[in-house]
Amino acid sequence: MNDVGFTRGRKEIGRTVGVRAPAKVNLHLEVLRQRHDGFHEIETILQAVSLFDELRVTLIEQYQGGEPDIAMSVDGGDGKVPADETNLCWKAARKFCLDTRLSGRIQIHLEKHIPTAAGLGGGSSDAAAVLVACNRLFRTNLDPGELEIMGAGLGSDVPFFIRGGTAIGRGTGTDLSPLPAVRTGQFLIVKPAFDLKTPEVYGNLKMGLTVNSAKANIRVIRPLLVRFPQKSWPGFNRLEDVVLPSQPLLQRLVLELKQLAPVAMLCGSGSAAVGIFTEGYDLTEIVEEFKEPGLFLKVVGPHAAGVEITDD
Ligand code: ATP
Repeated sequence: MNDVGFTRGRKEIGRTVGVRAPAKVNLHLEVLRQRHDGFHEIETILQAVSLFDELRVTLIEQYQGGEPDIAMSVDGGDGKVPADETNLCWKAARKFCLDTRLSGRIQIHLEKHIPTAAGLGGGSSDAAAVLVACNRLFRTNLDPGELEIMGAGLGSDVPFFIRGGTAIGRGTGTDLSPLPAVRTGQFLIVKPAFDLKTPEVYGNLKMGLTVNSAKANIRVIRPLLVRFPQKSWPGFNRLEDVVLPSQPLLQRLVLELKQLAPVAMLCGSGSAAVGIFTEGYDLTEIVEEFKEPGLFLKVVGPHAAGVEITDD
């Protein structure tokens, strides 16, 4: 980088970008095997949905190299989202700076709407949003593929949120291929008050190192996605086998959703679940029936993109 405009290597910027970060649900999640490094190899179909966290990222001052000076504030999240170096947004800003050898004073404000520890990928989406914001603020012009590689170093779900839409994820979920984008359907998301931690759920899987499972047949899935959702959808979430037996409330909610919606399953490792209904189907009564104290309940649509800059 050249030094023009820098005073002793520092440059006042004072520029802010707004970014919205969607949640995801899984339309399929199979665990194929446990790898020797302890991670599980999965095959999953991810779908971005129109439930968004909102972020404002400001580059106050830019300098070259060294540790960035990051400050963070959080609204919402029921006090469960830390505003410090453990937040994935903070980690994303730091990784962006260290990987690009650019640095600066960065301020991140996060407005949380996606329930946490729900399997909705909120933290991962926020991290992807910060990478996209930094790419704009530092004028680095990294392409989506480069941002996905950077994101994979932060968490398995982060790369998906760079492009979002509908995609199949293999490996630990980071090896992504786009699928025809689902554009219709009503996604009823329910989440009981308790949280589930992804590593603990995978830790409860009793899985040998060489389990062979049938892989999703993409040729079968492609045409079904165009007419999604319908009862013949072959997707399922294998993690239900380990989560639901010990969670009677969640088990009841998932069973009710499966009875009512053409497609329904646990979101990732829970504790949210989704029922997906056809466009135009009147959900008023169903939503009323599901209402109970402490339950997060929201109807959203599919989102055919990933994180998006809304304000620059
Ligand atoms: P995944 O399905 O990717 O495992 P999740 O939806 O189950 O994610 P998150 O909401 O991403 O879970 O957050 C899990 C934990 O991560 C929270 O309990 C919180 O302490 C921590 N965390 C760190 N950064 C964030 C963030 N930006 N938003 C929410 N939680 C965060």
